[in-house]
Amino acid sequence: MTVLVNPKALSDQKPRDFKMLIDGQWVGSAESSALIERVAPSHGVVVSRYQSGSKVDAERAIAAARRAFDTGPWPRMTAAERSAVLLKAADLIAERSEELAYLDAIEAGKPIAQVRGEIAGSVDIWRYAAALARDLHGESYNTLGDVTLGVVLREAIGVVSIITPWNFPFLIVGQKLPFALAAGCTAVVKPSEMTSGSTIVLGEILLEAGVPAGVVNIVTGTGPEVGALLTSHPEVDMISFTGSTGVGKLTMTNAAQTLKKVSLELGGKNPQIVFPDADLDAFIDAAVFGAYFNAGECCNAGSRLILHKSIASDVVARIAELAKSVKVGDPLDSTTQVGAIITPQHLDKIAGYVAGAKRAGAEVAHGGETLDLGMGQFMAPTILSHVTPAMAVAREEVFGPVLSVLTFDTTAEAIEIANSIDYGLSAGVWSRDFDTCLTIGRRVRAGTVWMNTFMDGASELPFGGYKQSGLGRELGRHAVEDYTETKTLNMHIGSRTGWWMPRG
Ligand code: NDP
Repeated sequence: MTVLVNPKALSDQKPRDFKMLIDGQWVGSAESSALIERVAPSHGVVVSRYQSGSKVDAERAIAAARRAFDTGPWPRMTAAERSAVLLKAADLIAERSEELAYLDAIEAGKPIAQVRGEIAGSVDIWRYAAALARDLHGESYNTLGDVTLGVVLREAIGVVSIITPWNFPFLIVGQKLPFALAAGCTAVVKPSEMTSGSTIVLGEILLEAGVPAGVVNIVTGTGPEVGALLTSHPEVDMISFTGSTGVGKLTMTNAAQTLKKVSLELGGKNPQIVFPDADLDAFIDAAVFGAYFNAGECCNAGSRLILHKSIASDVVARIAELAKSVKVGDPLDSTTQVGAIITPQHLDKIAGYVAGAKRAGAEVAHGGETLDLGMGQFMAPTILSHVTPAMAVAREEVFGPVLSVLTFDTTAEAIEIANSIDYGLSAGVWSRDFDTCLTIGRRVRAGTVWMNTFMDGASELPFGGYKQSGLGRELGRHAVEDYTETKTLNMHIGSRTGWWMPRG
C-alpha cells in the first residue's frame, strides 16, 4: 500500500540555515559565501542550507582541535568530569529529540517514527559512552622482578577526524563522537553534505552541555574538498569513517602518508540463510524488515536471502504478500515504513540494478518499479527471485529496497554462497536446530551474525565488518579504547647496573 506525500507539508516553510562550528564559534566559510542547499527527497523543496566549507575552513577546525587537545582542559579533566558532560549531552539530545528526528526525516527522507527510535538509541549510546569513560584504564605488571615495575597507560590518541554518511546522520556520529570524547580526544566532524542538519544541532547541544571550545568542530562541505583534507592532514591522529567501500579505501590511502590510525565502517551485502525447520512466520517478518528498513539504504540491510530450495517458492510468495502491505510514502506521516530515496541519481542507480538483474535472468516477484507519488523520489519494495551468485545484484551493494533471493541444497553450499562476495558486515541464520545455527554462526565471515532474529543491536555489542566491510569495531566495551594509544612506563627500582654488568 502506498500513500501520497503531502505537498503542502514543507512548501510553506523557509529553509533552515546552518553555520559551522569552529573553535567554539558559529561561523560561515572563510572563503565562500556559497551555500549547499538540501532538497527534501520526499517533497522536492529546499529544507536546509549549509555552509560550503573549504580546505581553509577544515584547516582552521583542525588547528582548533589540535590546540584544544595539546593545551586545553578536555584531555586533562578527570574521567568523571568528562562523563558528566556526556550525560548532560544525552539529556539534551533527549530534550531536543523531536527537532533532531524532524531534521533527519526531511533531509534524508527517513520515516519519522523510525528516526525517533534512532534518536532514542543515540541517547542510550551517549550514556553508555559516559559510563565507559570512567572505566578506561591501563594495566600494571608487578611480576617483572624486584627492580622492575611496568605500567601500561591508556592515553587519548589526539585529534580525530570523523566523517559520516547520509543514511543514519545522527545515529552514526553518535557511534563515534561520544567514545572519542570519553577518551579525552578532540574532533573535527564532517557530516554528509546532504544531511548535515542534525549533526550541527548536536554541536549546539555539546556547547550547552559544557564541551569546551575547540573540542568538537563541525565543518560542512563536500568529501573531495573537506573530507579529503581531514583524512590527509598531518595534525590529525586518527580517522573514524563511515561510508562507501570506495571512499573508505581512498581514506586509507590518504591516511597512509602520515600513518594515521583508521577505523572504517563500510558497505555490506548481508545474507540471511534460511533452513526448512525455521520459524518461518518470524523469518518472513524479519526478511521484509531487513530488506526495506530505511528503504534498504542501510549497510546492514538483509539484501541477500539464501533459502533452502525446498522452501524457496513458498517463502518468496509469502514475502511478496507481506511486502504489499509495507507503507511507502511521506516520511513525516508517523505510519510510514519506507520513505524517500536520497537523490534522483540514487533512484536511477537502484532501478538500473533491477533492470540489469532482469536482463541477467532474475524474475520480479514483487515491485521492481519506481513510484510516482506526486513529489520526491520513491522506490517500490522489490523482490527478485531466480538470482544467481554471479549476478551484480547478488554481489554489489544496491542500497535500495531490493531483495535478492538465492537458493541452496546443502549447508556447505549456503556457507559458500554467503562467503563468496567481498563484503562481510553481517549475516542472519534461521533454524530451530542449535547445531545448524552455530555452524553457520562460526563459518560465515561477518562481524555480526544474528540467529533467529535480524538487525537487533545494543550499545554493548561491537559492530563492524570483516573483509571489505571495514576495519575496527564501534560500540561495545572496547569502543573508548579505540580512541587511545598505549604507553609503556618501564620503571626501575633502586640503583641500576651498567649494560655490561649482569642485571640483578
Ligand atoms: P560516501 O562514501 O560517498 O560518503 C561518506 C562520507 O564520506 C560523506 O561525508 C562524504 O562526503 C565523504 N567523502 C566523499 N568523498 C570523500 C573523499 N574523497 N575523502 C573524504 N571523505 C569523502 O558514502 P555515502 O554517503 O554515499 O553513504 C553510503 C555508504 O555508507 C554505503 O556504501 C553504506 O554501506 C555505507 N555505510 C556503512 C555503514 C557501516 O557502519 N558499515 C553504516 C552506514 C553506511 P559528501 O558525500 O558530503 O561529499
